Amino acid sequence: QLRQFQSVTVPQYSALARLLSSLAVLEQRDGKLNVSSLAAVTAAQKLGGSVTGIVAGSGTKAVAEEAAKVKGLEKVIFVENGAYDRGLAENYAPLLVENIKKGGFTHILAGHSAFGKNLMPRVAALLDTQQLSDVIGIEGEDTFVRPIYAGNAILTVKSGDSTKVITVRGTAFAAGETEGGSAAIEEGADPNAECPTEWVSENLTKSDRPDLATASRVVSGGRGLKSKEEFDRLMPPLADALGAAIGASRAAVDSGFADNSLQVGQTGKNVAPQLYLCAGISGAIQHLAGMKDSKVIACINKDGDAPIFQIADVGLVGDLFEKVPELTEKLNAQ
Ligand code: FAD
Repeated sequence: QLRQFQSVTVPQYSALARLLSSLAVLEQRDGKLNVSSLAAVTAAQKLGGSVTGIVAGSGTKAVAEEAAKVKGLEKVIFVENGAYDRGLAENYAPLLVENIKKGGFTHILAGHSAFGKNLMPRVAALLDTQQLSDVIGIEGEDTFVRPIYAGNAILTVKSGDSTKVITVRGTAFAAGETEGGSAAIEEGADPNAECPTEWVSENLTKSDRPDLATASRVVSGGRGLKSKEEFDRLMPPLADALGAAIGASRAAVDSGFADNSLQVGQTGKNVAPQLYLCAGISGAIQHLAGMKDSKVIACINKDGDAPIFQIADVGLVGDLFEKVPELTEKLNAQ
């Protein structure tokens, strides 16, 4: 009798389990919503259940109003406090934890950006849970897909944690639509945690070119360019002809041909443009890890056996010092 009774109570308990509800961390800078952080909203929608956004900093009520129009968001929580303006993980993590506990969220998602990569492991540690990093696919509420070994293997991982703390790869989830939504706006809890880190200053690279991480076309140069002078002579005109962002291999960056912010790859940026055109890049696995999801990959290399040709859709075997100016000229003539 007792056994029978117990077997009936178990499903009843599971029916009482927390309903799936996700919190997407929205990034803002100088009172402007960072649209690339909306990939977290798209990923949260794939989980099902309700999706709430959170944004913190000064002037964030206006950002929350902007975010409220994002399709798929049910609610946007904002915390008005200049202490969160620079996205310092040391005080942002306790802020998130406070609001996670208050809202009873089951899934916490942020972009796999510098901000998300710094913040989410701390949030996971404070919640005593395992963090799920660089997720590229969602197969269910506890099953996630992520690359390992620099993208050479894809791991499907099942998490038994009651709260899942996740960063998502921006190129794997389209940014949510910024019009058509009508989320409720609510002021969040502010723990005003002490921050041991002081923000001193920043040096931002200013460029009129499209942002490398989100550009629809990227032209990238490698060690084959030989020098910074040649890189600067050949790559910007090609990028201009295509309206593209400029990227570089690590070898090109380490040799001083290009700025560190342009590095594509495992230890650089992940890009997935419509067109990735590279010249003088061999195609090392660490470089491929950052660009192999590009829709069309084109390459120029004088060595027909270079590994880049194995993943390229279009390849040109030839000397880049001849081929790049020729291509630029032809594009400009169109
Ligand atoms: P090379 O491998 O030297 O290739 C140069 C290519 O240019 C050659 O294929 C050559 O045939 C061609 N070439 C030369 N002259 C000409 C010419 N005149 N015309 C046409 N072609 C020409 N690399 C990254 O890019 N991004 C990363 O994020 C990254 N992270 C790394 C992380 C770790 C832990 C490690 C160990 C390595 C990492 N690397 C990364 C480095 C990576 O292994 C390679 O060393 C690097 O990608 C090589 O850059 P490259 O293709 O420009 O240079």
